[in-house]
Amino acid sequence: MACMTSPAEAGRGSRRAAPVGHAAMRSANLSLLLRHLHTRGGRSRATLSQETGLSKAAVTSLVNDLAVRGLVQEGKVERLGAVGRPGTEVRIDPGHVAGIGLELNVDYLAVSLRDLAGAARFADSVPTPYALEPSAADGRSYPLDPVLDRAAELLQRALDAADAEGLWVAGATIAPPGPIDYDGSRVRFASNLGWTDVPLAEELARRLGEDSPVLALENDAKLSALAEAPRLAQRGITDLVYLTGDKGVGAGIIAGGRLLRGWSGFSGEVGHIGLDPAGERCRCGRRGCWETMVGFDTVLDVLEADDPTRSGRLPMTERLARLRSLLDAGHAPLHERFERLAGDLVRGAGVLVDVLNPQAIVLGGYFASFADLLVQPVQSALDARLLAADGRVEVSASALGLDAAAAGGAAVALERVLDDPLLAPELEA
Ligand SMILES: [Zn+2]
Repeated sequence: MACMTSPAEAGRGSRRAAPVGHAAMRSANLSLLLRHLHTRGGRSRATLSQETGLSKAAVTSLVNDLAVRGLVQEGKVERLGAVGRPGTEVRIDPGHVAGIGLELNVDYLAVSLRDLAGAARFADSVPTPYALEPSAADGRSYPLDPVLDRAAELLQRALDAADAEGLWVAGATIAPPGPIDYDGSRVRFASNLGWTDVPLAEELARRLGEDSPVLALENDAKLSALAEAPRLAQRGITDLVYLTGDKGVGAGIIAGGRLLRGWSGFSGEVGHIGLDPAGERCRCGRRGCWETMVGFDTVLDVLEADDPTRSGRLPMTERLARLRSLLDAGHAPLHERFERLAGDLVRGAGVLVDVLNPQAIVLGGYFASFADLLVQPVQSALDARLLAADGRVEVSASALGLDAAAAGGAAVALERVLDDPLLAPELEA
């Protein structure tokens, strides 16, 4: 959007007398500039003016407004060719605004605090009460209160860390393992926890009291896909499927550069694609779902009954490290399991490739930790079933691994400020 005001009108002093509509225009232009710097990196005011179509005077005024809120800062000097005056670069200020992502899983909770430049400022993860006390589950349903108490504690730790670093928190995105009711901020369904219609945001806000940041919900796989997308977009990849490997399996689907939610938010519930009518009973009630073949438990099942790796009491990172040690020590059943796992992954991934025609499939969650055993076999098997050469899909492992959903959550929380920079409070002089 081009700024249509004269330089005089764009001055700070005239804002109070501006007609209705001016404030909205100014907010939209602030957002345009901030987003431009966020995705393209630091550049001079002159370059910003050229690239956005805003006048130089408008850019100067808007940059001042962003700087007052600690959103941008002056950087190094940018030279524009051999002639003309060098311009000082304006860039994202990482020092004042942050977002929080919290992943809520069956076995663990993970939180990530990220600043506006995307750097991780605080991260922590803890086992859930269910991991510590598996008998806490009543049949197929896990009690809500203990995990919500734990999640609120972890959120509070991230808020305290933000406070200690002088960061204002734009919001927090909670990532439960299931589809979301976007209007009501409720979890519609989380098959591996036995939850239906849980008012997660409201419950957490109540626990945090007046400290609570703005809370939003988004599905863990969708957030992971959003977190991974910028890395792939640099290589021109706009269509991808991110697969989370955990107790269950979910997909975050990005099509044409946009997150696909589906009509009611259930897109990507790929763990319940029926692949074998005579297969194992799934927690969702159906038989032969994909996740009964590739879920984390199918790997743990080949270990000895007393192997501590099976226990959710251990942090996920430690369980994955123990699996790696067993593989390194030549644990034959585990090697066989991973060989079959690649084939089982292809059974479902092939369906996704045929339906969605993605450019890339990203293996996340525990799959990413065993990229050396999974990526190449899955790639070869998908190559072998190509219908046409230009339908080839690139298989890779998530660069963010277990942090993907929380990192994506923090990025989505920061979107509030990128949409409306005026939400950020002015710095104290
Ligand atoms: Zn199922």
